[in-house]
Amino acid sequence: MSDEERYSRQMLIPGWKQEKLTNSTVVLVGAGAIGSYVATILVSSGIGKLIIIDFDTIEFSNLNRQLLFRDHDLGKSKSEVAAERLRDLNPDCEIEFIHKKMEEVSVSIYEEADVIISCLDTFVGRRWINSMAVRVESPLVMGGMFAFLGNVQVIIPNETACFECQPLVPEEELAQACTPFGEERKKEREEEEKEPPLPAVATLSSIIAGFMSQETLKLIIGIGNTLENYLFYDGLNNALTIIELSRSKECPTCGDLYKLEQVEFVVNLEELVKDVTLRLILTYGLAKPEIMIKGTILNPEESVKDVIKQSKSTAFIIDKNLAKPIKVVLQIKD
Ligand SMILES: [Zn+2]
Repeated sequence: MSDEERYSRQMLIPGWKQEKLTNSTVVLVGAGAIGSYVATILVSSGIGKLIIIDFDTIEFSNLNRQLLFRDHDLGKSKSEVAAERLRDLNPDCEIEFIHKKMEEVSVSIYEEADVIISCLDTFVGRRWINSMAVRVESPLVMGGMFAFLGNVQVIIPNETACFECQPLVPEEELAQACTPFGEERKKEREEEEKEPPLPAVATLSSIIAGFMSQETLKLIIGIGNTLENYLFYDGLNNALTIIELSRSKECPTCGDLYKLEQVEFVVNLEELVKDVTLRLILTYGLAKPEIMIKGTILNPEESVKDVIKQSKSTAFIIDKNLAKPIKVVLQIKD
């Protein structure tokens, strides 16, 4: 049977361009409930290539809503099993899986994406994938759920509000970025990972995944209007709310700081590198910046006078809140 026949019904839609789908690559992070539905829809619709990133293994409690998995899959890699089922669903599609933490995946994989899809359930994870999408300038379709409540956000880097720009993030979560000490951040992250499981039902997962898949198809085909840019759905009351979020100039990911090519920063010969780091955190809302001079990352315990020999030294600041390193001229205070 020909491709034409497999996709013939969707190709009846005015403006539909199947060849755009066939030539597209989607990177999907998180092969859980929402991820299972999104992958199923995109693969049956005939996207060209799907790359699934997930480090989790399949548990019994996943089976009420993660439709790609079966009882006999327990303990296996989610991304691997998902890839196997999806290849069976549509052999036309190229399906790759990466059983790794998303942070360990090469940037070149994310660069390949026409759309990145986030089906992650942690705040820290969403924040990370958002910064990656901004870095590689790929549209990001993000979704989340809690019982019968769900949300979808479509982020077009440097055009629409990103995950960090928007005011819907709880303030205590935002504050995490400014916690100066790395160890505290680590502890918070561990606590987050240990949080009790969230309530989840297949109906809501499939509805949110439906919206996300639809936005992805629209973005790839170039049809209709993209979601502007946050949708909230309450399944118990059938209430749908769309909020247009605005970008923030102060956003640590896509705001002016990101565009800042060079800044001057005054340092004192008497202080240690870690004192400079702390001021950088407080000044720019960074997480755990590292200072690099001539390709070497400075040791926090070193004294400024041992590492900066001239009155002005060019350094790069590297931090997870920055989409790329910023160039800083460290100027010795007279
Ligand atoms: Zn932003």
